[in-house]
Amino acid sequence: MTAPKRPAIPVTPGWSELASHELEARVVLETLEADGRLGLSGEEASRRLAEHGPNEIEERGGRTLAQIVWEQVSSVLILILVFAGIVAAALGRPYDTVAILAIVVLFVVLGVVQEYRAQRAIAALKKLSAPTVRAVRDGRPVEISARELVPGDLVQLETGSTISADMRVLESVNLRTREAALTGESEPVDKTAAPIAGADIALGDRTNMVYSGTSVVFGRGSAVVTATGMRTELGRIAELIQDVRHEKTLLQRRLDGLAKVLAGIALGIAAVVFVTGLARGDDTALMLLTAVSLAVAIVPEGLPAVLTFTLALGAQRMLGRKALIRRLPAVETLGSVTVICSDKTGTLTQNRMTVTALSTPGADVDLTEVLRERGPDVRLDLDNALAPLLAAGALCNDAIPDPGGELEAAGDPTEAALVVVAARYGLAKSALDAALPRVAEVPFDSARKRMTTVHEVPPDGPATLQGLRALTGGSPYVSLTKGAADTLIDLCVASLQDGRVVPLDSAGREALRREIEALTAGGMRVLAAAGRGLETLPEKDALEDVERDLVYLGLAAMVDPPRPEARDSVETCKAAGIRPVMITGDHPLTARAIAADLGMADADARVLTGRDLDRMSPEVLREAVREVPVFARVSPEHKLRIVEALQANGEVVAMTGDGVNDAPALKKANIGVAMGSGTDVAKEAAEIVLLDDNFATIVAAVEEGRVVYDNVRRFVQFSISGNLGKVLIVAVPPLFGLPLLLAPIMILFSNLLTDGLLGLGMGVERAERNTMRRSPYAPSESMFSRGIGRHIFVVGLVLGVGMILLGWLAWRAAGGDLAGVAGEALVATTVFTALAFAQLLRALSTRSFTAPIWRTGVRGNRLLLAMVGLALLLQLAVVYAPPLQEVFGTRPLGPVEIVAGVAVAVLMLLVMEADKGLRRRESSLGA
Ligand code: ADP
Ligand code: MG
Repeated sequence: MTAPKRPAIPVTPGWSELASHELEARVVLETLEADGRLGLSGEEASRRLAEHGPNEIEERGGRTLAQIVWEQVSSVLILILVFAGIVAAALGRPYDTVAILAIVVLFVVLGVVQEYRAQRAIAALKKLSAPTVRAVRDGRPVEISARELVPGDLVQLETGSTISADMRVLESVNLRTREAALTGESEPVDKTAAPIAGADIALGDRTNMVYSGTSVVFGRGSAVVTATGMRTELGRIAELIQDVRHEKTLLQRRLDGLAKVLAGIALGIAAVVFVTGLARGDDTALMLLTAVSLAVAIVPEGLPAVLTFTLALGAQRMLGRKALIRRLPAVETLGSVTVICSDKTGTLTQNRMTVTALSTPGADVDLTEVLRERGPDVRLDLDNALAPLLAAGALCNDAIPDPGGELEAAGDPTEAALVVVAARYGLAKSALDAALPRVAEVPFDSARKRMTTVHEVPPDGPATLQGLRALTGGSPYVSLTKGAADTLIDLCVASLQDGRVVPLDSAGREALRREIEALTAGGMRVLAAAGRGLETLPEKDALEDVERDLVYLGLAAMVDPPRPEARDSVETCKAAGIRPVMITGDHPLTARAIAADLGMADADARVLTGRDLDRMSPEVLREAVREVPVFARVSPEHKLRIVEALQANGEVVAMTGDGVNDAPALKKANIGVAMGSGTDVAKEAAEIVLLDDNFATIVAAVEEGRVVYDNVRRFVQFSISGNLGKVLIVAVPPLFGLPLLLAPIMILFSNLLTDGLLGLGMGVERAERNTMRRSPYAPSESMFSRGIGRHIFVVGLVLGVGMILLGWLAWRAAGGDLAGVAGEALVATTVFTALAFAQLLRALSTRSFTAPIWRTGVRGNRLLLAMVGLALLLQLAVVYAPPLQEVFGTRPLGPVEIVAGVAVAVLMLLVMEADKGLRRRESSLGA
């Protein structure tokens, strides 16, 4: 056998093919010209970034411009228009043909622009939600975007991190990753730093490598990047795993359906008009063209573009309110949410924990007064009876204290609070860490609700640690555990009193339990600390075993004030028919106290704990979730059961989460909501990410979701009622021997103004005053519910009849049957212009479903106002500009015709307002 030759790892493309798993970590670092402590220098990193390019998987399969164009061109609506154009051409009407084709082009362009913009907006949002990485550069930890990673970068990994490049593990503290995306193995894989022999062993067996596309599910560690971008293992199979599905939203699918139904109706009516016209012996060519124009009139051409526009705009507005949308359909689903399940800590509360009470067998202190009177910088004298508790709280702790005095600390707020309170008493975490170095740990886990660290105990040391040393009875190691007090005391068999370990009997434990309950009932989070001596360092797999036969050290109770804006948001939810539910790992009494404070629950509300849930059958749980406002001491798995039970009751559920274990519940919920501060795994499973972790942001996103829904319904109401009117105007008069009141080209032009310009203006409408005071739209709720169907019918009918009457009067004035071609053109122009006026006023009135136009005003929506102005100018141009008169067959109108047109338009406005008045009465009766 030849000795394995030492492979070089040149820092050039292609080098990742070499098996860095076979090498010592040191050698990998050397060949990568990297440093396992200081990381790369910023300069070197930029040089490598230039050489290797950004760490990205090339997007393939996103729809190209050509595909988007084709989708638009091939829609039923456009095909009907094209057919109309062909008919017009066949009949020798070049102007109509050109006009129709111009409109086809306009709508296609409009559709393509909106689709393209929406696609780009979503791509931009995706970039925003791309994971960040904690790398070390120039010896300092920095948060960088995963795109900026280069080979040789030193990266720190922690539970929940997404791994964004292929890396060689340098250090592993119980590091475990999930590699299902890459290898199909669903069990987490243990990672180590030692070299592994065998050049071509399977990816899954290279346990000292971590791969792009996988994630850390447990522990922490560090690693050096060996391959980025398309050169990662993930990059190689990128084509296989890219999710290219172009998701249509529920609304999009339903509106597609609606458009098809309308197209069918359009063709039916057109056929009837054509046949009756023929039977009456009308001019065949004109009847054919009229029939086709009718079909065009009925179909809401603008609907797809307006919908895409509104959705993309909704996503953008949500981002403005700190909710990052990861999937477009979430925008509208948010509008239908009926239950919001929210974490407590950090979402409903500020997550600014402050320890206000300490309790040990030898001393009880309440710091509330001291803190209030002497402020947050207060320093206190150490009482020896408190020292073991404080030291354990600061040692069994991953927060990073501020160098200047340690009265602030970065990291988990619960842990920061413990570091700070120890520092108040003169026990600096940095000094403690130096005196008692940590040698092993079991990380915090929200299912166990505790964590443990193991430390070396030096033979001598500061006097303040005398108490801790008493705990070990001379053994070389001490293990310290801190966690939820109510369960941790069950693991304690003794307690530390006056430097002696005394047994803890059941009466003693009962007394502790009462003390914990008293503290928790006030809304405080209570942690206990405990410890024990260890003769030997436990095996890695047996670490959790040290959490037994513990010696109780004391309790630390901390307050976490509610977020000031949360109370209002809870109020808003309730008014909006949405039930807020608190789900927390905290103690039931703490949870209920905060929930009561926020108005989410009564002071004596029923609280279910994880243990209660474990005893419930799905059926019983289904009943329970109908009213229980607070779930406490739950583990992430319970969240999944709660979501399922709520959904079985027909609820549309938004659920928050931040941890790795929350991912299944986030996926299951209709809207998974990840915390911006949460793990990458949670974010990936979620539909939206809260950039500020704030409950109020969920409520704001729901409001924007409702606005999207409202604006789409607004457009449907406006467009279809108008189209119904137009159908009547065209189809009815011939039955009474009147001439055609609207030339085909006029209908098309009117549709362009209505569906194109005014529709877009409607899409940007802001929330109405009562948007959050009505019940949510069920996802299955008809587009025509809540008075929209009636509106379309009544307003469409009045519009049609009004215009026909106007046309009849104009025809009589022009001489009736003697009107001649010029007279008939004047009649048509009169109706055409009155219709435009009416549509403009109707658009302004549609700004609200219920509030009168004199209350909403017209200035609130600048785009709509601009579109109304533009439409008016275009209409006047078509009527008064001679070249356009030629094309559209219009005649200039005199003051009488204009005044008559305005009068009919105002009449329409009054009908619209009367309908709103009726809605207001109905809703006040219904409420
Ligand atoms: P929440 O839903 O309020 O965020 P967690 O799952 O974070 O709840 O925490 C559940 C319980 O675990 C807390 O009530 C607390 O007692 C305990 N706990 C929280 N953080 C830590 C920590 N860093 N170390 C030990 N115990 C903790
Ligand atoms: Mg938490």
